[in-house]
Amino acid sequence: MTLYLYDTYARNLREFVPLSESQVGLYTCGPTVYDYAHIGNLRTYIFEDILRRTLEFNGYSVKHVMNITDVGHLVSDADEGEDKMEKGARRTGKTAWEIAEFYTQAFQDDLKRLNILEPHIWCRATDHIQEQIEFIQCIEAKGYSYKTSDGVYFDTTKLGDYGYLGRLDIEGLQAGVRIDLGEKRSPTDFALWKFSPSNQKRQMEWDSPWGVGFPGWHIECSAMSTKYLGKFFDIHCGGEDHITVHHTNEIAQTEACFGTRLANFWMHGYFLQLDEARMSKSSGEFLRLQVLIDRGYDPLVYRFFSLSAHYRAKLNFTWDGLDGAAISLARLRNQVYEWGAPSVVDEDFVEKFTAQVNDDLNMPRALAVAWDLARSTLPAATKKATILIFDRVFGLDLAKWQPSQEEIPDEILALAQQRQAARTEKRWADADALRLKITQAGYEIEDTPQGARIKSRKQVP
Ligand code: AMP
Ligand code: ZN
Repeated sequence: MTLYLYDTYARNLREFVPLSESQVGLYTCGPTVYDYAHIGNLRTYIFEDILRRTLEFNGYSVKHVMNITDVGHLVSDADEGEDKMEKGARRTGKTAWEIAEFYTQAFQDDLKRLNILEPHIWCRATDHIQEQIEFIQCIEAKGYSYKTSDGVYFDTTKLGDYGYLGRLDIEGLQAGVRIDLGEKRSPTDFALWKFSPSNQKRQMEWDSPWGVGFPGWHIECSAMSTKYLGKFFDIHCGGEDHITVHHTNEIAQTEACFGTRLANFWMHGYFLQLDEARMSKSSGEFLRLQVLIDRGYDPLVYRFFSLSAHYRAKLNFTWDGLDGAAISLARLRNQVYEWGAPSVVDEDFVEKFTAQVNDDLNMPRALAVAWDLARSTLPAATKKATILIFDRVFGLDLAKWQPSQEEIPDEILALAQQRQAARTEKRWADADALRLKITQAGYEIEDTPQGARIKSRKQVP
């Protein structure tokens, strides 16, 4: 079945045709390891995992590369301010190197807990300084760079279609410049190499043909993707914020050097919407995966929650929404468990499922197919075999799950799910009626600040 993916470059769905028969090259921009990832960041990695699983589901062998940004990402994306790593080092009293190591490990642990398949290649920016220097030399040799007193910059006016990916209004940007450009010639020009400040020794700095310093943030992805996947590969991804700056600049660098636009498809995950306080890495409210776990949620509940929206739609984070996901996942797990051993797969259902998945990774509709399967009159063993096929894409580990001591029957979970929906839609009377039904059946629903919990009521002698 044909796979359609939305390509941000074309602003259209395109049929996915691999560049080579043998392998699909996938590059996903990784984290800047100066702090934990927040659950918004993780939404993007879940989307990328679904993409990789979908490619594999379609029979492709994927080579997945993810970078670790451990140098060069400045506090402002406009090449201003301190390096996030050096700032993180100051905050914690550790070295920038220790910080990078610690948060890389924490990030990889988060991915495991979310059942995200590990990339085949991890690459750190600091392990590829030579490749980045050579890339800048290539850009320089082709005449696309200039030097200022604080670094080497990419001259974006030299590239006819600079900004096409983000559909940037270059003239508007030029006309609207109020900020001090410093020695930068154009507002969209960006740093390829920055010099260490003359009065200060940085923790992370290297010799280069231009002077001691460190690479700009964008060059690492051009250099490392080329090294591991070639000058033109299949798919490059990141979060939607990367469209206008980071990916635009990666394309500029690679185009200047090799004349290709780096990747055949550019795909972007939309943001999880959280209020500022919950996203701000310095605040106590800061929502990372461990906070959800500490509140009693299985990490896969967050994965399930992410599947409830299309990756190209914003998703609002609420505790109510997460509770809804917890209840639905519990229902699904219970049923799958009760279906027992798998037998033959139902091909019609697999076809329906594939149609949704291959329509630009439509997970909400793919989940709806899973619920249709559950409600169908097929034999349990067939349902089981079929859902396990679906789970290759969902990645919910449905084969492994087992009920714990206190098992909540499916009818009760169904009522709780309806009550959750009623609450979300503010149908309070319906919600109350459903609660009464749950209580009458001998279960208790407790609304804690962390959300709804169901328990069986203790028998009073
Ligand atoms: P960073 O560690 O800041 O480089 O970001 C890691 C990834 O998370 C990037 O692909 C960003 O585009 C993505 N990202 C940042 N904020 C959000 C958010 N609120 N929702 C989804 N993805 C995000
Ligand atoms: Zn990148």
